[in-house]
Amino acid sequence: MSVLITGGAGFIGSHLVDHLLAGTDRQIVVLDDFSTGSASNLEHLETDQLTTIDGDVRDDALVADCVAEAKVVYHLAAAVGVRNVVENPLDSIQTNLQGTENVLSAAAHDATPTFIASSSEVYGKSECVPFSEEDDRVYGPTTAPRWGYATAKAADEFLALAYNDEHDLPVVVGRYFNIVGPRQTGQYGMVIPTFVEQALAGDDLTVYGDGTQTRSFTHVADAVSITHDLVENDDARGEVFNIGAPGPTSINELASRVIELTDSDSEITHIPFAEAYDEDFEEPDEREPDISKLRDVLGRRPRVDLDRILRDVIDERADGVIG
Ligand code: UDP
Repeated sequence: MSVLITGGAGFIGSHLVDHLLAGTDRQIVVLDDFSTGSASNLEHLETDQLTTIDGDVRDDALVADCVAEAKVVYHLAAAVGVRNVVENPLDSIQTNLQGTENVLSAAAHDATPTFIASSSEVYGKSECVPFSEEDDRVYGPTTAPRWGYATAKAADEFLALAYNDEHDLPVVVGRYFNIVGPRQTGQYGMVIPTFVEQALAGDDLTVYGDGTQTRSFTHVADAVSITHDLVENDDARGEVFNIGAPGPTSINELASRVIELTDSDSEITHIPFAEAYDEDFEEPDEREPDISKLRDVLGRRPRVDLDRILRDVIDERADGVIG
């Protein structure tokens, strides 16, 4: 029996593959459609412990076949990146809703333990920071596509918890908070790879809005080891957890720090959200996880600080590993 990772060729998924393979004889199957993921994220792994299947999580028969062979499922395949979600709302909503329903219904067949990747986006534009798992969600109108992503991810969580309760499916839901690290592409709008690439090229760093909005950045190594620990922990079953590192940074501070650490001559330029995305765009001002629940259950918290995250991304880009 193998471990199935949907979205295993993606940024977080490929780090999860690394983590689960390290020092073990586990067999891992990656199901990925290589739309936002990339074969290059896995090419350093020359091992017969890894099988890659090129397919879409919306394909229910394919998902059922993959899940039937698995002893545990990590469902990470999803639309990724705010820019992608805003530009391709239909694809994003369908992938998130149908993909998750396919995975959960297949996993329910043999009660296969399943991790569902969710997002801090489910809190929407709540101002109740730091965000705690039981907090209310606050969304804007359906005319702003960003909230379609948040709604689909929240629906995924409802589905997961309902399968847990009604089908006795062992699930755990993790809400990822701005996960960053090597292999993340700036192509879908993520801020740290974008700023690092701009700084290394000597281009202006494009801060959206006035730059006072804050985010709590979390190293991908912390995110995947916590994800694994949650799946292994019986007390996490049927529960939702924030997976993130407390300690918010404003986007202005982030831009300045990237310029310092890259020793770049780049300047900072501010771009209105309406220009960066579209007129209907809405932005959460502050985003920070409350990780009391994670600490209570796992007895640990993320360890890597922002400077280490930035240095890892800068070193990778400066080495030309990703262009
Ligand atoms: N951002 C920015 N410039 C960029 C890309 C993003 O100022 O080139 C901002 C974005 O508006 C948000 C923050 O950086 O406030 C984090 O953006 P990202 O897309 O990485 O994640 P989000 O938290 O929006 O999901």
